[in-house]
Amino acid sequence: MSLLDQLNNSGQTHLLIGGEWRESSDGNRIDVLDPSTADTLTSVASGNEDDALAAVESAATAQAAWAATSPRERATILDRAFQLMIDRKDELAQLVVQEMGKALPEAAGEVAYAAEFYRWYAGEAVRNLGSISTAPGGDKRIIAIGQPVGVSLLITPWNFPLAMATRKIGPAIAAGCTMILKPASDTPLSALALGQLMSDAGLPDGVLNILPSNRSSKVVPAILADDRVRMVSFTGSTEVGRTLLAEAAKTVVKTAMELGGNAPFIVCEDADIDAAIEGAMIAKMRNGGQSCIAANRFLVHEAVAGSFTEKLSAAMGGLKVGPGLEAGVELGPLINQSAQDDMIDSVATAVGSGSAVATGGETGRSPGFYFQPTVLADVAPDNPVLAREIFGPIAPVTTFSSDDEVIALANDTIYGLAAYLYTGDLARGMRISEAIEYGMVGINRGLISDPAAPFGGVKQSGVGREGAHEGMLEFMETKYIAADW
Ligand code: NAD
Repeated sequence: MSLLDQLNNSGQTHLLIGGEWRESSDGNRIDVLDPSTADTLTSVASGNEDDALAAVESAATAQAAWAATSPRERATILDRAFQLMIDRKDELAQLVVQEMGKALPEAAGEVAYAAEFYRWYAGEAVRNLGSISTAPGGDKRIIAIGQPVGVSLLITPWNFPLAMATRKIGPAIAAGCTMILKPASDTPLSALALGQLMSDAGLPDGVLNILPSNRSSKVVPAILADDRVRMVSFTGSTEVGRTLLAEAAKTVVKTAMELGGNAPFIVCEDADIDAAIEGAMIAKMRNGGQSCIAANRFLVHEAVAGSFTEKLSAAMGGLKVGPGLEAGVELGPLINQSAQDDMIDSVATAVGSGSAVATGGETGRSPGFYFQPTVLADVAPDNPVLAREIFGPIAPVTTFSSDDEVIALANDTIYGLAAYLYTGDLARGMRISEAIEYGMVGINRGLISDPAAPFGGVKQSGVGREGAHEGMLEFMETKYIAADW
């Protein structure tokens, strides 16, 4: 039986509150679509404000006992959850494809990536060290200990429905926090599947509550207004992030914000062009371009722009597009109709401002929310398409002639999440990396995500880091105890 059938048959398309699967209190449900056909897959319960407060109550009730568990106990649960995800990777991958659309090999990659956050934080759980020191005046000892921040609200996007959830659940569990997870309305099923999996791994009832809702703008403020909630960890658009920062300010809730990006992919004239194409295909096309760290602007030295554009067009044009579960498919559909409309509009905007379509440019297939892999050539630096987060399979190519020029172009955005850089000269690569305003830089690499690395952005791409040791600190407070003995 598929995981989707299991969820449907066992009532696990409801809300998970205090270990119980419940309908929403007003019976409201959200239809979940298959993006490869636009047909409805199933529906899930959609929580309202009453359900949100019930979830807060459940998390708050579980908090003290959960914080008192030993780090080893929490680590053991995370280790078991890692193993369960690996054991169930085929069915989880299939579910991700069904609701999100990505090609099956990519979904399998996401399951492995998502599971690694549990393995990493199983290790971090037992390394919460703290410190003791003597004050400079010699009058006291300064003791600093880490404690869980408390009840946390986790809000995730649809593009990596498993990994964006485990990247928050893992450190929250390791730190000893209870939580309410609000997944994206387009992809609630993967999150709900994690609910049962975490329970099978031994997570006590009430530690992880899951609240799908298509009434986020009411439900989330209701949760943040409850002063038992001490943390909001959000991954999503900069626009919604700004709203949440304002909302969190009212009760001075701790925030971690992983927001949008506009990643430059810089190719210097001394780069290995074939390696740059290989990196470009990963940085642009991972998840069909629907990634916050997706290469959004190709900034290519004028001496190699012609050959780079030609080779990129051939590689992009050669991708097999189709339903994610079909054998051999490399690019699935976009998430929804609005995403497809955005691609149509991005191409029209770019072409309207003087750029040329080197390959693709059309939706290509129907039904389903498809868009052809597209390369745009002759994109002037002031073309408005370069200011948007494209979030799909479109690669605009712009040229530059000096390092100073490309640094200025790269920094000419409100975003500062990820950047990529190809050069044969590592010293030049380091110089440019230090001069560009980004939280993450890939030098001669198109893939930078790693659970052990601090992931996050500067400027309007966010506040805080996920993954690594830093990701766990987001879910902790430092308590200072002054002691004389
Ligand atoms: P989104 O901001 O529309 O939604 C994200 C989440 O916020 C969803 O769960 C949604 O239901 C919820 N939400 C929407 N409106 C809300 C409101 N008014 N109040 C409270 N919650 C609300 O983003 P999306 O379309 O799901 O995801 C794409 C965006 O996410 C892109 O901008 C992408 O760059 C960003 N993203 C960032 C990272 C990162 O790590 N920096 C990772 C993945 C995606």
